[in-house]
Amino acid sequence: MRLFVDVYRLDWDYAWELTTGTFAYTNHTLLEEALEKWSVDLMTRLLPRHMQIINEINRRFLRQVANKFPGDIDRMQRMSLVTEGHYPQVRMAYLAIVASHSVNGVAKLHTDLLKSQLVRDFNEMYPGRFNSKTNGISQRRWIFQCNPELTSLISEKIGTDWMSTLTELTNLRPFADDKAFRDRWRVIKTAKKEALAAIIDKELGIKVDPNSLFDVQIKRIHEYKRQLMNILNVIALYIRLKRNPSADFVPRTVIFGGKAAPGYVMAKLVIKLIGAVAEVVNNDPEIDDKLKVVFLPDYRVSLAEKIIPASDLSEQISTAGKEASGTGNMKLALNGSLTIGTLDGANIEMLEDIGEENMFIFGLKVEEIQAMKAAGYNPREEANKSPVLMEVLKLIDSGHFCFEKPDLFEPILHNLLDGGDPFMVVADFDAYAECQDEVAEVYKDQDEWARRAILNVAGIGYFSSDRTIQEYADEIWDVKPLPIEEDRVDWGDKISEKKYGDLKPRD
Ligand SMILES: *Cc1c(COP(=O)(O)O)cnc(C)c1O
Repeated sequence: MRLFVDVYRLDWDYAWELTTGTFAYTNHTLLEEALEKWSVDLMTRLLPRHMQIINEINRRFLRQVANKFPGDIDRMQRMSLVTEGHYPQVRMAYLAIVASHSVNGVAKLHTDLLKSQLVRDFNEMYPGRFNSKTNGISQRRWIFQCNPELTSLISEKIGTDWMSTLTELTNLRPFADDKAFRDRWRVIKTAKKEALAAIIDKELGIKVDPNSLFDVQIKRIHEYKRQLMNILNVIALYIRLKRNPSADFVPRTVIFGGKAAPGYVMAKLVIKLIGAVAEVVNNDPEIDDKLKVVFLPDYRVSLAEKIIPASDLSEQISTAGKEASGTGNMKLALNGSLTIGTLDGANIEMLEDIGEENMFIFGLKVEEIQAMKAAGYNPREEANKSPVLMEVLKLIDSGHFCFEKPDLFEPILHNLLDGGDPFMVVADFDAYAECQDEVAEVYKDQDEWARRAILNVAGIGYFSSDRTIQEYADEIWDVKPLPIEEDRVDWGDKISEKKYGDLKPRD
């Protein structure tokens, strides 16, 4: 608007038509703290002309709101692009909605919550502006490049069409019932696990058993993603093993990776707890090789490419309603991991295509959480109903995992029991622990696990970013593809097998 109005000297209405016709806003999170608000004071000093223009956009916008909802002053205050009060701020998400011809969320549930809750007033103001584009991932990186062995095995059975049209992976379904195919599938998974075990040994000096269940949670460390619930269950398993070392137990290697924002104290403390539990569990001779905890530092794409092909179990356990989509869930499923997850983000749509019998779903749904919170959720009361969780929390409280500073993890315990447990770790813990026992039960039958893994891959084709981008092109950007000149890009049947079939994993 500034360039059009000030530099190109267009009149306001035409400039606004060009601007809104150009911009489309994709919202990526419902978390309040992630929605930017910029200080009016700061903007007025640094970008005075922009601030003037924003104020004019706001003035005209609020006029429209008043015209559509006469006398609804509350609504005007709620929707104003600039907050009122002592410290006025520009609500950047609102500005983006007003200045765009399209607003989208990145999974069905996320878009529904966007429309019905976060920016409900704006959906009422501009019905039809909102739409959903479920995220996807690139098969080029997340299987051809990171898992050429699995890529070749799949192509051997169903040809190479799936490489450019990922939904063709459904042709793999019949092979889930082919014993010889399942055996070859498992050989590749084991080789990938051995390669990761070597990395873990090299990086951390921890020896893990490649035949154990590789249970993987890799993603930014955030309270809503609930790495805490995972490590609490690890402690529960540890207590179980200590109590009865000879009990029937499916060996498990629990692998974490992820960075916390520098100022996010609680997330840093969760990393510290994972490290402290790892130190105790990994060095207890009585636990032996049955349970190992690994925190791989410096989680990044190149490391993800090593971990994902080696994973058996994908942890997608966010508090329902908090994960906009997730894409790690898709990458892991594409490489034959089974998901343990909540009904959140794209997990819900994955469930539709993969089938609930091939995923481990547990926990409270969005509406259930909202109802519990509205009724006055009391986590301490809830925790008292779970003897396993209470024992875990008591063990942490005793200083067992940190003699040097026994009260180190007190803020975590406080948050869970007296701080309102905003991410419902206590409320979901028992369901999660029970679901993890079911996981272990299924894993005992390696052949059945492989069958389900194949069905996960067969059902994940919808989650290609090719499909996502096509939807953006067709429904938001209104752009058409350019024809690909054959001498410039070699992308036919003959190349797919050759180029990717011979590809060696990078070191
Ligand atoms: C895919 C990816 C993510 C996103 O993972 P989620 O599980 O969806 O949060 C984050 N970091 C890296 C390095 C990734 O490759």
